[in-house]
Amino acid sequence: MSTQFEGRRALVTGAGSGIGAATARLLHRRGGEVVLSDLDLESATAVATDLGERASAVRLDVTDENGWEQLSSSAPFDLLVHSAGAAASSHLADTSLDDFRRMVDVNLTSTFLALRFAARHLNDGGSIVTLSSLRGVLATEGLGSYGAAKFGVRALSRVAALELAARGIRVNSVCPGSIDTPITQTGSGFEQVDITAYVRSIPLQRRGGPDEVAASIAFLLSQDAAYVTGTDFLIDGGTAAGRLAPASTTS
Ligand code: NAP
Repeated sequence: MSTQFEGRRALVTGAGSGIGAATARLLHRRGGEVVLSDLDLESATAVATDLGERASAVRLDVTDENGWEQLSSSAPFDLLVHSAGAAASSHLADTSLDDFRRMVDVNLTSTFLALRFAARHLNDGGSIVTLSSLRGVLATEGLGSYGAAKFGVRALSRVAALELAARGIRVNSVCPGSIDTPITQTGSGFEQVDITAYVRSIPLQRRGGPDEVAASIAFLLSQDAAYVTGTDFLIDGGTAAGRLAPASTTS
């Protein structure tokens, strides 16, 4: 077993599913102690039970200020991965103010609460990774609310990187492209997406896996990235690099 995170205490939000669960498992496998939080305590507990020693689960609604407050009794932490989030797709003309606010709340306001918690309760020398998205780098039709929130995640994370640098705390965002997790099944508006056609637009011609995002998060959290802070790290199979030429125009 790798000991890369031995002696490091990590809080992972959204750890009951997808990227959060994969990250919690990887940090644990590399020797870290992991507190797994999720809105759904059952799913976080299932992962924590599977991991065994050095893993515990707690219910946290990341949009709830009091919930974060209560979590301070479990502090301090060395590492924070804020993976909890949700997606929904609708054109601006069809988006209610409530739906817009819900996307901002769960993705951006939660990131503010997570970063403020970290600023107050992370040990000096700690490291934080927030979850933005490729949709927080490239504007995407139908993803106005989600995209605006994820653009904001990168901005807030950079501010945190500046404010916490003097304490040796590094803050980076990851920006995944399309990753095979339940997020689009639980979110509304994705029913019509033709995933086969979408995959053809990805240079690497496939979706990513949660373990691949977890590996990049672990790199950013680790001492291997000791001089990396305030960055946005794309994990998108090459999508943001440019446009693939139509097959008929390639020579
Ligand atoms: P996921 O499998 O759906 O995991 C998200 C987790 O967050 C779920 O366990 C969900 O719980 C939890 N959650 C939702 N609202 C919450 C709340 N208010 N408080 C606490 N937990 C909450 O999705 P994922 O793909 O791993 O997504 C993780 C992060 O990556 C998200 O921030 C997402 O925006 C970002 N991301 C994902 C992709 C992708 O293609 N998968 C791409 C770019 C960025 P419930 O299941 O109980 O709702």
